[in-house]
Amino acid sequence: MIITLVVVGIFVGLAMVNNSDANQTRFEKQPPIDGQPTIGDPDAPVTVVEFGDFKCPSCKVWGESYFPQLMQDYVDTGKVKLAYVNVLFHGEESILASLAAESVFKQNPEAYWEFHHGLFAEQANDHNARWVTPETILEVASNVEGIDTDLLADALENQAEMAEVQKDDALVKEFKVQYTPTIMVNDVLIDDPFDYEAIQAAIEKALEEN
Ligand code: CA
Repeated sequence: MIITLVVVGIFVGLAMVNNSDANQTRFEKQPPIDGQPTIGDPDAPVTVVEFGDFKCPSCKVWGESYFPQLMQDYVDTGKVKLAYVNVLFHGEESILASLAAESVFKQNPEAYWEFHHGLFAEQANDHNARWVTPETILEVASNVEGIDTDLLADALENQAEMAEVQKDDALVKEFKVQYTPTIMVNDVLIDDPFDYEAIQAAIEKALEEN
């Protein structure tokens, strides 16, 4: 058993620990969410982290269906706080979208989530279409109350929040994110982000452990 654990540790990385539950990976800690856009009661006992990419079609679907379901079932009831970390799997456009989102968050955290969902709503049906542009970003921002679009344009031009984007990228590497969206409930990686029952079960377990 000990030897098995050591071998597994070598192959899957040091941050993971073995877990007897099927279809679950448990890390030694949960992703730190300081400085990340987070919705819900800051004192909520359970933390759900979405590692997402504005260019990812599955993330758009997740955000339109699973996000509101989690809000209704767990965030609005004070049990869960939900944080979003940027993933850059689609290159330049992922970086630009992340810079925009981080800049909005820096400028006015209150405006973040509306901008976040607004940007996802602009995602092109053609996955290869280049749709993340400064023009699209500023158009979305102009429809969200509380965003100064001139300041945002400057921030994009100067890549003002690149350090935040890199911080997210480091978390993606630390937690070995392989696909988007990747959903973690506290320190538990949910294997299938579209298995709502698995997400619920992990949340309920975390609430019990709390
Ligand atoms: Ca971030």
